Amino acid sequence: MLDIQEIRRDFPILAREVYGRPLVYLDNGATTQKPRCVVDAMTDEYLNVNANVHRGVHYLSQQATELHEAARETVRRFVNARSTAEIIFTRGTTESINLVASSFGQAFLHDGDEVILTAMEHHSNIVPWQLLQARTRIVIKVCPLTDEGRLDLEALEGLFSSRTRLLSCTYVSNVLGTINPVADIIRMAHDHQVPVLIDAAQAAPHLPLDVQALDCDFLAFSGHKVYGPTGVGVLYGKETLLDQMPPYMGGGEMIGKVSFEHTTWNQLPYKFEAGTPDYVATTGLARALDYVSAIGFPAIMEHEQELTRYARQRLMEIPAMRIFGPSDDSVISFLVGDIHHLDLGTLLDRLGIAVRTGHHCAEPLMHRLGIEGTVRASFALYNTKEEVDTLVKGIDRVRQMF
Ligand code: PLP
Repeated sequence: MLDIQEIRRDFPILAREVYGRPLVYLDNGATTQKPRCVVDAMTDEYLNVNANVHRGVHYLSQQATELHEAARETVRRFVNARSTAEIIFTRGTTESINLVASSFGQAFLHDGDEVILTAMEHHSNIVPWQLLQARTRIVIKVCPLTDEGRLDLEALEGLFSSRTRLLSCTYVSNVLGTINPVADIIRMAHDHQVPVLIDAAQAAPHLPLDVQALDCDFLAFSGHKVYGPTGVGVLYGKETLLDQMPPYMGGGEMIGKVSFEHTTWNQLPYKFEAGTPDYVATTGLARALDYVSAIGFPAIMEHEQELTRYARQRLMEIPAMRIFGPSDDSVISFLVGDIHHLDLGTLLDRLGIAVRTGHHCAEPLMHRLGIEGTVRASFALYNTKEEVDTLVKGIDRVRQMF
């Protein structure tokens, strides 16, 4: 059992008030709060170590490089990759997916080739493929959802053809809270010799990731959703695929030799890391992953899944409550009667309760559900049942105003 009160003391922001009320932060799907150790590690690096990485012979540069590369090893361990050559630092999930769409697309996708997505994807796993489509006439196929908010796996099986080159799908829906059976999906795709990209943005904070056990070909996540800093993320890719892909951006660091006639590329993972990386953020990310790992996913999952079950049950006591999707883990999307999601979110905010409202960057999913948006409560390891009770009371209060 987690000592939640002790954990909460690691996150100073949770003790603050908004509008004179204690903050109830239930917008963790958008971004998580940061434990003091993450901020301290980054402050310490800026104050005592700071120097550009990889290029310096001097002491500070070497120390900063060691921290940066140690962070890469921490990420490798976190996702259980074979080698740090397979861990590319990006700005976040969005950039990781854009990198694959652009670079894998250039190497492997030709006019008439097909990419399979699903109806529950975040825009960041839709639009990069459309940008590619504007350059190469690929076909985007979409796996439909069941009415329960799960992927229709039978329909998915029927989407594969001899032209399918990639399947890209989210692990956990940021709207429905569905945990997709990604291991089964990857097996299905591999039976058709199709590689798979997993968007783990909403999985990384809640579930253990093991890229070797999953056998996924690419996996992307963002630091800021897993208690780390903003502006840093990860792309895992199988070395055999990354080796065959061209660089995504050009500049310093990603090169071997440069001349005006001919330029060669650096080895992995640097081939995909042009320019000065956010080496302080990578230190912060490593500290965040260490923080999560020290608590351990068994305890995190037990706490968060119990909290999500409790929240679903309490929310269902509210008249005219509609919950969208199964909320397997940490995300509950809902509407109450005909109260507009924006009104509900705004009035909850006045009570100190931070939730998200709108389409959650998943407009095609909103079309499928036949709605414009929802209110979304999303939990992290520091949330409590008392906070769920405050949310339920808050919704009741708002309901009485309408
Ligand atoms: N994929 C999913 C499922 C998400 O929930 C998000 C963010 O909400 C993203 C991708 C994009 O993440 P980022 O904005 O950190 O790049």
